Amino acid sequence: MSDLICRRILLKLSGEALMGSGDFGIAPEVMARTAGEVRDLVEAGLQVGLVIGGGNIFRGAGLAQGGLDRVTGDHMGMLATVMNSLAMQDALTKIGIEARVLSALSMPDVCEPFSARDARRHLDAGRVAILAAGTGNPYFTTDSAASLRAVEIQADMMIKATKVNGVYSADPVKDPDAEFYPRLTYNRALAENLQVMDATAIVLCRDNDMPLRIMNINDSGALLRLMRGEVIGSLVEKGE
Ligand code: UDP
Repeated sequence: MSDLICRRILLKLSGEALMGSGDFGIAPEVMARTAGEVRDLVEAGLQVGLVIGGGNIFRGAGLAQGGLDRVTGDHMGMLATVMNSLAMQDALTKIGIEARVLSALSMPDVCEPFSARDARRHLDAGRVAILAAGTGNPYFTTDSAASLRAVEIQADMMIKATKVNGVYSADPVKDPDAEFYPRLTYNRALAENLQVMDATAIVLCRDNDMPLRIMNINDSGALLRLMRGEVIGSLVEKGE
């Protein structure tokens, strides 16, 4: 365990990361592969908290554009995160990794209610804690939920696994001259409005000194290599 740079992490996966090449829902092979990455972390001795988005199913803002009440749409988005979380719990269980879903919205027949104390207890016991239903409040994102939960479970680092390699000065897909930032401060990410996470999520990390690593989820084995000390992706942290 001593070769790991963290004891406990909060890993944020977007719902979209679970879609694979589809445009809705969960691709079973992507779920299985992602669960395998989490298993490798747990077997290496790491405590893993997970927050999974819901964008592969519903997003409140999108539903509101279609005419639905925003609060109702956000409730649907949060329920989508619970569905993804249950699927991840199942995928982990199938490969021998114990996991528990803890939801910010109470649904005792489906999963446990979230409390930081219970989440930490599961993590200490070697179980993956999957923290579902975002913050439980509309008008927030699962990135903000991930920052909040990272702080609450006293993670050493939050990792946002995305489809790009890290933070760039512009969208690298659209702009070939986009500059890659291996390291930057929270304030720079905020001031330059870099597409790291929404401002609420970044401010929560900044104000609580939570280091934030942005990296590519499609880079197989990268999470474990990162935890073993390899420099991967971009680090957002406090600075001069
Ligand atoms: N959501 C919410 N409050 C939260 C977290 C999420 O209302 O604290 C809703 C919101 O509608 C959001 C949806 O759940 O669009 C899915 O989350 P998100 O868009 O962050 O998922 P991701 O982009 O990570 O897949």
